[in-house]
Amino acid sequence: MAARLLRSSLRMSGGRCALRSPPAARFSHSGEEKRLETPSAEKLTDIGTRRIFSSEHDIFRESVRKFFQEEVIPHHAEWEKAGEVSRELWEKAGKQGLLGVNIAKHHGGIGGDLYSAAIMWEEQAYSNCTGPGFSLHSDIVMPYIVNYGSEEQIKHFIPQMTAGKCIGALAMTEPGAGSDLQGIRTNAKRDGSDWILNGSKVFISNGQLSDIVIVVAITNREAHSPAHGISLFLVENGMKGFIKGRKLHKMGLKAQDTAELFFEDVRLPASALLGEENKGFYHLMQELPQERLLIAEMGLSASEFMFEETRNYVRQRKAFGKTVAHLQTVQHKLAELKTHICVTRAFVDSCLQLHEKKRLDSATAAMAKYWASELQNTVAYDCVQLHGAWGYMWEYPITKAYVDARAQPIYGGTNEIMKELIAREIIRDK
Ligand SMILES: Cc1cc2nc3c(=O)[nH]c(=O)nc-3n(C[C@H](O)[C@H](O)[C@H](O)COP(=O)(O)OP(=O)(O)OC[C@H]3O[C@@H](n4cnc5c(N)ncnc54)[C@H](O)[C@@H]3O)c2cc1C
Repeated sequence: MAARLLRSSLRMSGGRCALRSPPAARFSHSGEEKRLETPSAEKLTDIGTRRIFSSEHDIFRESVRKFFQEEVIPHHAEWEKAGEVSRELWEKAGKQGLLGVNIAKHHGGIGGDLYSAAIMWEEQAYSNCTGPGFSLHSDIVMPYIVNYGSEEQIKHFIPQMTAGKCIGALAMTEPGAGSDLQGIRTNAKRDGSDWILNGSKVFISNGQLSDIVIVVAITNREAHSPAHGISLFLVENGMKGFIKGRKLHKMGLKAQDTAELFFEDVRLPASALLGEENKGFYHLMQELPQERLLIAEMGLSASEFMFEETRNYVRQRKAFGKTVAHLQTVQHKLAELKTHICVTRAFVDSCLQLHEKKRLDSATAAMAKYWASELQNTVAYDCVQLHGAWGYMWEYPITKAYVDARAQPIYGGTNEIMKELIAREIIRDK
């Protein structure tokens, strides 16, 4: 892993964590480190577990956990009221080397591996703070710029994004087109070497705070299919005609700035085109597996968080003279939840390994997203139930986890669309 990652981890923890052995690691007679998998760990959120990680990752994880504990959790309720997190938080994350973790150093990123990026996703889920749109920025928007951008675009945006001074968003969905992206109406027309962009987008995460938005637009209405006439554009905050609408009033994810965006005759220079003209749809298809894996990972980690939260609760809550945890039906429910979570963890970790080797295909990523986000909602439902009425009160973390879970089967492609992708592979003539 990049030395910078390690250095930033040590800086954040004052060097302390390097002296501590990871709590859940065990050593064999030969002294070789044997990492526990989640079923045998004391807690599903323990540091030092899972064979996909190394002790260097553990050090990084300690520092990320500390960041969420100190810089995010204490302010999250206030950001929920504001409907967005502070810009200062983004810059702090940038300073600590927590943005663009999996973006190569030579492009201006941190240069960590995919597992380090996954630690960011997991630790955010363990903090139960869904406000900061870090994963979207670092692991969805930045890869588009790195993979399809010109040298000039990469140089201009990536270092600023790593520093948290430029916040990214991705705008595909429109009021009339979500699942069926080929039905979008936002369009860009040539005017000399410039483009003129018109249209609107909705449900855009990081929309309000965004400095740079990747906008999906039609560039050729005559193409033999709509997919052949779609391009991507980099639209910067402050461009004339780029208007940010209201922050949307959501059921959950209260601290996330999900917004409507409007484009009224926005003049874009030729250099705003991202990737190849009319190849936007193919660029999107290429990048979607990572987005789906990320949603699966965060959903599963949220399940691990909810399980631990509920285990604590039932061990102290009393009913009929004993703790609720003494009731056999409660124990069986916890056994079911833990089994489902750990089985899913094995699958999602294997997807991470495949993706680290660039071998994760679209249908497998779709399975992970569909399965983990459905599980997250089942776990949320059962964990609220095990909390009784306190699970229905906003001040209890499980309540927030419950409402936040609901968006997961919807965005990143609905789970019905995931099943379409999985089914297509099943029945395809090989
Ligand atoms: C909190 C949040 C954040 C979001 N962030 C972003 C973002 O940053 N950028 C962005 O571009 N979008 C974002 N979205 C939008 C999201 O990606 C879309 O909502 C999603 O793709 C579904 O589109 P839709 O809402 O238009 O549903 P529709 O496409 O209208 O679907 C309605 C229902 O029909 C079903 N359906 C549609 N087609 C089929 C089919 N072929 N087979 C079976 N069932 C089908 C769907 O599964 C769904 O149940 C976000 C959404 C939410 C809730």
